[in-house]
Amino acid sequence: AKAAGRDTLCFYEPAMQASVTARAALEADMRTALAQGQFVLYYQPQWERERIVGAEALLRWLHPHDGFVSPAQFIPLAEQSGLIVPLGTWVLQQACAQLALWAQEPALAQLTLAVNVSPRQFRQSDFVAQVLAALASHGTDPRRLKLELTEGLLLEDTEATIAKMGELKRYGVGFALDDFGTGYSSLAYLKRLPFDQLKIDQSFVRDVLTDPNDAAIARTIVALGASLGLSVMAEGVETEAQRAFLERHQCHSWQGYLLGRPMPEQDFEHTVRAQAH
Ligand code: C2E
Ligand code: CA
Ligand code: CA
Ligand code: CA
Repeated sequence: AKAAGRDTLCFYEPAMQASVTARAALEADMRTALAQGQFVLYYQPQWERERIVGAEALLRWLHPHDGFVSPAQFIPLAEQSGLIVPLGTWVLQQACAQLALWAQEPALAQLTLAVNVSPRQFRQSDFVAQVLAALASHGTDPRRLKLELTEGLLLEDTEATIAKMGELKRYGVGFALDDFGTGYSSLAYLKRLPFDQLKIDQSFVRDVLTDPNDAAIARTIVALGASLGLSVMAEGVETEAQRAFLERHQCHSWQGYLLGRPMPEQDFEHTVRAQAH
C-alpha cells in the first residue's frame, strides 16, 4: 500500500501542474465565450403526471473548436475562478427573457423555468437585487421562476440564506432543493428554509428498482416532502419502470431522458405545443 501511495504521489505532481495550465486556458476560453455569446440554454421538460409543467434551464457551451462542452467540465472551474457570478447573471437574464416570451403565448404561458444557482453566486450580497433586476428588465412574472439551490449552501450562514430566500419568496419566486439526499443538510434546516420542492437526486433514481437502499431513500424523501408540504420531483428518470415505481410511491413529478432530454428552445416549445390540444 505504501508503494502504491508513493506511485500515486509521483504522478500527482506533474498532473497537478498540467491541470493548472489547462485550467488557466479553459478559464480564458470561458471569458471569451461569455463575451462572444457562445453559451446557450437548453431546456429539459419537467413533468407532473401526464403534462409538462415547466423546464429546467441547463447551460451549454458551444465551443467554436470543441463543439459542446459539458457543464460538468466548466461549472466547477467557473465556480473556483468566480466567473460563475457573471455567467450566472447571464443565465438569469436569459431565463427571464425566455419566460417573458412564453408569457405571450397561451400554450406556454403557464410554464415554470427552473434555474440552477451556484453557491458562490447565491452568496453575493446583491444576489436578490440581481434576480429582481433580471425579472424587472423583461417584465417577467416572478411566480414562473424557480431557483434550484444545492445542500452545500445550507451549511453556512443560514440566517443570510433564509433572509435572501424569504425576500425573493415574497415576490413569488419558487425554490427547489437540488440533488437532495447527497449532501449533509439536516432536517432542522429543511424546516427553516422556505423551499417549495425537493429534487430526488438521480443517483437514487438510477437503481431504485434494484437497490433496496436507494428505493428506501426515494420513498423516505417522498414521505418527508409530504409531511413538510413540499412537492417532490425525481430527476434522472430513464425508464418506464422507474417512473412507475415512483408513481406507485406517490411521486408524481418527474424529469429525465425517458420524458425528454435537455433540448434547444424551439424543440422544447414544439413539444409543449404538441400537448396543448
Ligand atoms: P443538475 O442540476 O443536477 O442537472 C441535471 C443533470 O442531469 C443535467 O446534466 C441533465 O442533462 C442530466 N440529466 C437529465 N436527465 C437525465 C437522465 O435521465 N439520466 C442522466 N444520466 N442524466 C440526466 P448537465 O446538463 O450536464 O448539467 C450538469 C450540472 O451542471 C447540473 O446538474 C448543474 O449542477 C450544473 N449546471 C448546468 N447548468 C447550470 C447553470 O446554468 N448554472 C449553474 N450554476 N450550474 C449549472
Ligand atoms: Ca438542477
Ligand atoms: Ca440535480
Ligand atoms: Ca447536480
